[in-house]
Order: sequence, then structure tokens, then C-alpha cells
Amino acid sequence: MPEKTVKVFDGHNDTLTKIRHGGPNAQRSFLERSEKGHIDLPRAREGGLAGGFFAIFTSSPNYERVVDPLVGADGQTVPEAWSVPLPPKLDRRIATSWTLSVMSDLFRLEAESDGAISVVRTTAELRRCLSDGTFAVILHIEGAEAIDSKLEALDVFYEAGLRSLGPVWSRPTIFGHGVPFDFPRSPDTGPGLTAAGRRLVERCNKLGILIDLSHLNLKGFWDVSAISQAPLVATHACAWSLSQTPRNLTDEQLDAIGESGGLVGINYAVGFLRADGDGSGEFKTPLTEIVRHATYVADRIGVEHVALGSDFDGARIPEDLGDATGLPRLIKAFRDAGFAEQDIELIAFRNWLRVLDQTWRE
Ligand code: ZN
Repeated sequence: MPEKTVKVFDGHNDTLTKIRHGGPNAQRSFLERSEKGHIDLPRAREGGLAGGFFAIFTSSPNYERVVDPLVGADGQTVPEAWSVPLPPKLDRRIATSWTLSVMSDLFRLEAESDGAISVVRTTAELRRCLSDGTFAVILHIEGAEAIDSKLEALDVFYEAGLRSLGPVWSRPTIFGHGVPFDFPRSPDTGPGLTAAGRRLVERCNKLGILIDLSHLNLKGFWDVSAISQAPLVATHACAWSLSQTPRNLTDEQLDAIGESGGLVGINYAVGFLRADGDGSGEFKTPLTEIVRHATYVADRIGVEHVALGSDFDGARIPEDLGDATGLPRLIKAFRDAGFAEQDIELIAFRNWLRVLDQTWRE
């Protein structure tokens, strides 16, 4: 009997940054098959990708050239030891304007898809998509620069469909501090949430917006953990014990996620998977590296706390995976490692349903 295709619901992609819908800089269309990047609708269908968290991310202008000390909340400069080549805070007007533009792109794409794509706002809608084959999109904002300290924009984004938010990307915001891309290094890279950051967590809980802990530093993580009533979730991260980048989660962080009933979406970025932290692509990274991290997290806190968070269209991923069409090879790697079919389904989409049921307000 041929092995059945397992549908995958994914914790993170940066595809929206690559498919400016109808815009002059669009690299490709989402509705037509391309060889570029990792996801479009035809390739998603071929690989069994049923949907995922679609991030809206605003780039820092001149990111490559900026080497500034971090400036914390209330204008304090973060101590020298924490100074790293991270971009400085991003101007809210730039982030708001970009975020609205990409959201509009997404809604136009949804309309043009004629029912093939749906931006989901409830788990009932997500379940319907998973059963009838509609490609499901969860709207996520990665780095909360587009949101003001009074959280007015948050309410409006929620009404528009926002259901997941990262308080920071790897740069400071008015809410907290992100970790640098560095190796080997602890995620304890600076201060925790600001007062506005704590209000943000409470408001997200109240509205039913998932708080993504990926990119947040260690103190910020513990602050969210102390305040939040929702399961703790890192949508796209790996195990720090296996690859010591501050973007990954320490054993203590994994334990807290497990105790909260939360979830880790295992990131496919080779730089977060490999024991040597090399993200250059110079060395081949086998698919089994993804399974290695998933196994580590499952062994430590239980398979019900493991999911997938590809970072498709945002990172260099193992060559053998290639793009969304390679997902059946990843599922096979899980089978080959001895994962039961039932556990593979938990990892592939069922754990997301459980956590979103507990996080969102219908
Ligand atoms: Zn990210």
C-alpha cells in the first residue's frame, strides 16, 4: 500500500515578502508555479502543505551597514557587552505603511484565488480548510514595530484578521529586545519586556492573538512566561542544546513551553539546525537534522509540543528538502527515525489545532 500523504500546517514562512501581489517588485505570483523560493500554491499542493503562518516583516533600511549599540526602552543604552550588529529600532511609520500594504496584498490575493486561499480567523475555519483542501493562511506580524504603545493599531489589526504576533524580530522595539544572529551564544542578550511589552502580552491574551516567542531574548521570554495565560509558543526555533544560536531554545525554555501546553515549530534553517551553526550553505545539511531537533524536543517535553515552523522563503534550508514539494521526504525521514504515524500527524498539524483552540477566542 502506498504511504499516504500527510498534510502539513506550518508555523512560519516569509513568503509574503517575496510575492508582492501585483506590485511592481513582485518576484513571483503565489497562484502560479515558480522555480524560485519555497512556496506557491501549486507546489504547496504537490507537497501536502495545507497552509501556515504567513509573516509580515518590515526590513530595516540599510540593515547590512548598521552597527549600533542597542537602545532600550525609554532611551537607555544597553550595556556595551550586549552591543551587537543588530539593526536599530525601526520607525513606526515605515513599519505601519509597509504592514498595511502587505496585508492589502494578501487580501487581494485571497479574493483573486477564488476560494483556493482563505485567511483564517478561527479554528473552525482552519479545520474546514484542512478538511476541504482550501489553503489556510494565518496572518502573523513578525516584530511589532507597526504597533503603537497605546496598542490602538493592535485592535485594528486584530479586527482585520491578525491572529499571531512576534513582539520583536531580531532588533529592539518599544516592547522588548530581539536576539542577534550569532554563534555560539546564549539567548541571554539583554533586558526583558518593557512596560509596553507587558501590556502587549496582556492585550494579546485578551484579544486571542498568539504571541510568538521566536526572536525574543531570554529575559523577554521569561517575562512573557510570567504574564501570559496562553500556551507558550515559538513558531520557528530549534533546540539550543544541539545548535548554540540565541535564536534557539534552551532546555529550561523548552521545559516551560511543555509545562504551559505550548509548542515549538522546528525551524528548517540550516544555521539553526547544525551543531556547527554554519548557515552559509557551504556544507550539505541532511533532512535528518530537522528530525534530530524534533526528536530532542519530543524526548524532553513530549511529542504533543513539537510542530514544524519551516522558515520557508526566509532561510537557507536543507538541499534535500528543496521547497514545499519536498515535504513528503521530510515526513519519510520522520518515519525512518521510528516516529509512529499518529505522532507524525501531531507534529504535522494536530498540535497546532490544539494550541490555537486554547489561544484564540472564537
Ligand atoms: Zn523569523
